[in-house]
Amino acid sequence: MARVYNFSAGPAVLPVEVLQEAAEEMMDYQGTGMSVMEMSHRSKAYENIITEAEADLRELMNIPDNYKVLFLQGGASQQFAMIPMNLMKNKVADYIVTGQWAKKAYQEAAKYGKVNKIASSEDKTFSYIPDCSDLPISEDADYVYICENNTIYGTKFKELPNTKGKTLVSDVSSCFLSEPVDVTKYGVIYGGVQKNIGPAGVVIVIIREDLITEDVLEHTPTMLQYKIHADNESMYNTPPAYGIYICGKVFKWLKKQGGLEAIKVHNEEKAAILYNFLDESKLFKGTVRKEDRSLMNVPFITGDEELDAKFVKEAKAAGFENLKGHRSVGGMRASIYNAMPREGVEKLVEFMKKFEAENL
Ligand SMILES: *Cc1c(COP(=O)(O)O)cnc(C)c1O
Repeated sequence: MARVYNFSAGPAVLPVEVLQEAAEEMMDYQGTGMSVMEMSHRSKAYENIITEAEADLRELMNIPDNYKVLFLQGGASQQFAMIPMNLMKNKVADYIVTGQWAKKAYQEAAKYGKVNKIASSEDKTFSYIPDCSDLPISEDADYVYICENNTIYGTKFKELPNTKGKTLVSDVSSCFLSEPVDVTKYGVIYGGVQKNIGPAGVVIVIIREDLITEDVLEHTPTMLQYKIHADNESMYNTPPAYGIYICGKVFKWLKKQGGLEAIKVHNEEKAAILYNFLDESKLFKGTVRKEDRSLMNVPFITGDEELDAKFVKEAKAAGFENLKGHRSVGGMRASIYNAMPREGVEKLVEFMKKFEAENL
């Protein structure tokens, strides 16, 4: 078995134990004589899979009873439209734009109502999180929107914005289950699972029940109504069945690691190994304001594009995959999600030290 250290931003590394278990169950899932891929989503076996997945997620995140958990499709990007279509009762929303994903969500919402960009960090290439303690929140805003961890730029909200009582909607795609969260602070928490939880094709939406209504924008497709999915327990149509099964295994793996408190400590230690090196390196440097650094996505540069390219190439040859930065920013980015072992980060830093010695 030749596994590489995979620093991809997404789809991304998954726990080896989960992949092995799925492999063992591939031909015959628990005596059913079939793969989960081949199974009716209405079967008893599958009902157990999705019910347990939801229960484990609720336990991990301590999700209160007045929130629904939905397993949907269409990726995080589909939510950029689904959120305004379902939540814009006054047709007004406030957006905090801290990166490409927040910007795309903002642009999509603008199709459906009046959207206000109440803060942005675009002036410095999204390398920081703006002060959100006293923003001009619109009186009639249906919600305030953030992207909590900016996958491309490597910034993270360490404190949630003061929404002055308005509903907070958060895209947590790239920090999902990386640390404990207080669900009650949000109206909607959602994310595509392919960054930190499972295979592409599933998006999880955690939504407070009072926000799920029939009062949606005119012509909202049936498939894009939260109420339809909530009333049908994510089974209005065929759900992304195999993907949900893998997510369920990752939830169990996380519980075995000690839950979100424990994974946070692990993530902080891992990230510190890389950030501490970046802070002392004479060749590499981080691109994000220190207090806003993400634990999940770590962008860095040498300051010389040719040297960056050489690094990415030599790193790949040494078994460190997908370190090239996003096409919009260049440089390098190491995504070090939950399933990236500490050893992967330690080895990467060793390799960076060696590269520095050879190229300085
Ligand atoms: C990857 C990503 C998206 C887009 O996800 P898709 O599932 O490809 O639509 C949106 N938001 C964030 C924060 C992401 O990291």
